[in-house]
Amino acid sequence: MRNVVIIGSGCAGLTAAIYAGRANLGPLLIRGHEAGGQLSLTTAVENFPGFPKGVQGRDLIEMMQKQAAEFGTEFHEGDVTRVDLAKRPFVIEMGNQTVETRTLIIASGASAKMLGLESERKLLGHGVSTCATCDGFFFRGKPIVVVGGGDTAAEESLFLTRFASEVSVIHRRDQLRASKIMQERMRRNDKIKFIWNSTVSDVLDPELGYVTGIKLKNVETGEERLHPTEGVFIGIGHSPNTELFKGQLEMDDLGYLKTHHGSKTSVDGVFAAGDVQDRVYRQAITAAGSGCMAAIDAERFLEAGE
Ligand code: NAP
Repeated sequence: MRNVVIIGSGCAGLTAAIYAGRANLGPLLIRGHEAGGQLSLTTAVENFPGFPKGVQGRDLIEMMQKQAAEFGTEFHEGDVTRVDLAKRPFVIEMGNQTVETRTLIIASGASAKMLGLESERKLLGHGVSTCATCDGFFFRGKPIVVVGGGDTAAEESLFLTRFASEVSVIHRRDQLRASKIMQERMRRNDKIKFIWNSTVSDVLDPELGYVTGIKLKNVETGEERLHPTEGVFIGIGHSPNTELFKGQLEMDDLGYLKTHHGSKTSVDGVFAAGDVQDRVYRQAITAAGSGCMAAIDAERFLEAGE
């Protein structure tokens, strides 16, 4: 029987583990299939307090992991396959392994959204990517496109200019959503071109098994045209990883877990932290902050005799 199980190994889950570990709760952290969360897929993080020169996302996560281990966190590699939150202790299944726990902290984060095209799905990993840090290197000297107009698309396109000959940013409106500082950096970069008011209606060529171009649709005129490219990076945001909790915990219309009074969910003893419950801020520092809240809430819940 565990005092606390944490699902997720991003910024929120690891901060919860540091706090729960220091409170002597001996947390078990289940890392999940996107171990390290979104921070480990990013490059320089410039807005996490304490790093005046910035820090690499992967390094930040590694330091948090060491800190969590230092205070007695046990790590489980792999995914949660089922949870039963109907009564306490809660039951957490990881394939053929089962663990029971008095409290649960859900920090399963959010995963990259896709456009939803059949061709995009077929070419994922063969020229279509959601992670510039992982795949940028393969596009040295090649023209590529980035889809989206938020901070993710901005960050991805700036990073990709290190490799690509040209980066075309395709946005469905004529104004970016990205923060002003990122917009300025994009505009100052000669390799970045913008294609406004356009969506991607198809990715070519699934028959060949690699990317040769995309079909672009102008949302104002409805006109379609072919745009040759060798890589397509999708940076259109994220959706919360809450599939496991459907029908067991309250969620909003987009599937984010609903929290109240700090990190409490609709089930007593289950707490949520980070992007899985945050559709507004979604920053590394807010995820870390909410991980801390969840651990303190779990500790108080246990102290009060569940
Ligand atoms: P986001 O802010 O929700 O932006 C998503 C972008 O993709 C928007 O421009 C949106 O268009 C577009 N889009 C969404 N669905 C689309 C579709 N089906 N087809 C075409 N375009 C689509 O998501 P995000 O960029 O991932 O950022 C999420 C949060 O993380 C934000 O709070 C951001 O500040 C934060 N973040 C911060 C950093 C940083 O500080 N370094 C880095 C990355 C992310 P519309 O504009 O028309 O809606």
